[in-house]
Amino acid sequence: MADERSLDPDDWDAVRRLFDAAIDRSLGDMRQVRKRPVWQSTPEGVRTSLSEPLPKSGCPLEDLLGFVDDAMRPYVTGNTHPRFFGWVHGSGNVAGVLGEMLAAFMDCNAGGRDHIAVYVERQVIAWSKELFGIPSSASGILTSGTSMGTLIALAAARSDRAPADVQTLGLAAAGCRLVGYASSEAHGSIGKAFALLGLGTQALRKVPTDGDFRMRMDLLMGMVDADRAAGLTPFVVIATAGSVNTGAIDPLADIGRWCRSQGLWLHVDAAFGGLAIAVPEFHPALAAIAEADSIAFDFHKWMHVPYDAGCVLVRDEAAHRRPFASRPHYLSSYPGGLARGEPWFCDYGPELSRGFRALKIWFTLKAYGMDRISSLIARNCAQARALALLIAGMPELQLLAAVSLNIVCFRFAGGLLEGRLDDLNSGIVCALQETGVAAPSTTRIDGKLAIRICLTNHRTIDADLQILVAEVLRLGRAASR
Ligand SMILES: *Cc1c(COP(=O)(O)O)cnc(C)c1O
Repeated sequence: MADERSLDPDDWDAVRRLFDAAIDRSLGDMRQVRKRPVWQSTPEGVRTSLSEPLPKSGCPLEDLLGFVDDAMRPYVTGNTHPRFFGWVHGSGNVAGVLGEMLAAFMDCNAGGRDHIAVYVERQVIAWSKELFGIPSSASGILTSGTSMGTLIALAAARSDRAPADVQTLGLAAAGCRLVGYASSEAHGSIGKAFALLGLGTQALRKVPTDGDFRMRMDLLMGMVDADRAAGLTPFVVIATAGSVNTGAIDPLADIGRWCRSQGLWLHVDAAFGGLAIAVPEFHPALAAIAEADSIAFDFHKWMHVPYDAGCVLVRDEAAHRRPFASRPHYLSSYPGGLARGEPWFCDYGPELSRGFRALKIWFTLKAYGMDRISSLIARNCAQARALALLIAGMPELQLLAAVSLNIVCFRFAGGLLEGRLDDLNSGIVCALQETGVAAPSTTRIDGKLAIRICLTNHRTIDADLQILVAEVLRLGRAASR
């Protein structure tokens, strides 16, 4: 049966009441977040209730909202909870949510042309350059995250440094093997980018780290020399500003200076740690980001912009554009009208259609200001140091890495043999998550399984860390009895 009504509602007032109800419930949920379990497993019944054939006809919005209440809202990741400490997650904010909702109403496509979403994104990029001290002539684009930002930056680096037009002719035309370097603590997204760019993951050399998990400059230099002697072509170094395991910051200034002397492109993975540049105490360690050829970082981590929101900045605009700018006739720009307004963002990345991601970032920065955001970053770092002290004072707990930023890696080691500790500590983490008390993650430090606490959470208070430590002790003692 043909139904040729537009998708607009018949009764706008009724829809308005539904929006009110949806917002009431969502705000109520965020306000009460501390009272709920950090995480709970999505029950089998809920999972199967999603399973149905492609809907042929519609159902009332009320029913869908009810479904969200019953079957979705309770089973979220949990990162808005003050005791979510796992991986590296932001914890959300209401200003960002408002921006996201308004952006959905405006429904802009920020791939290019002349309209407000493009101008807001350019402003957010300008603020990002200002934050990192990167020249205003640099280019940038908002991305889904640092993984995509790094892929874009490395595509620019590859085209810029390859000895042939690999853009047109393909990598084989380079007639050499391009290789790059990152520390052994670098993020997995860099290897993925190497694979996607046709370089191969083996072309990413892993440089060992020092006792503080920072890239060893002397070993980097030796590896580049050895690769050159073997006939390979080093082209890029990826330094980490805040490693995912321990928050380590590579010696950026030394690496940058040396890369310039060697004609190597320096990319900085500043996914979360980079934002600590706004904290005076960390500024010296991060200031050299200003000298990098490219940097990728996230707004959805330590700035708490609702997912997803990342960014890549590239010092040389022409190099940034080279891998991406080729527009067919149907995407020509015009000196006037809507198709005006060069440069287009689609010339800075692989995606043509892109949402108004900038608005939730603009809202977050305008609503709180960078000072307030950086105070919360500083508070997380202070909490990490306090937690490390607390752990150091407890004989049953063992700190596994020095705290350099906001991450604490430790384990319960009370009187047990080494061989049992990995299982015991992974069991503790599972129990913390499954009881909904807290959500840390795990990693390995020098081969030992660590309970990993990452503080990128503006809702965490000291009492949350005390609850965490008390629960780890209780679970550890019970399991080792
Ligand atoms: C999270 C993270 C990434 C990947 O960023 P996404 O936004 O998840 O794509 C890369 N590097 C580091 C250090 C990270 O913490």
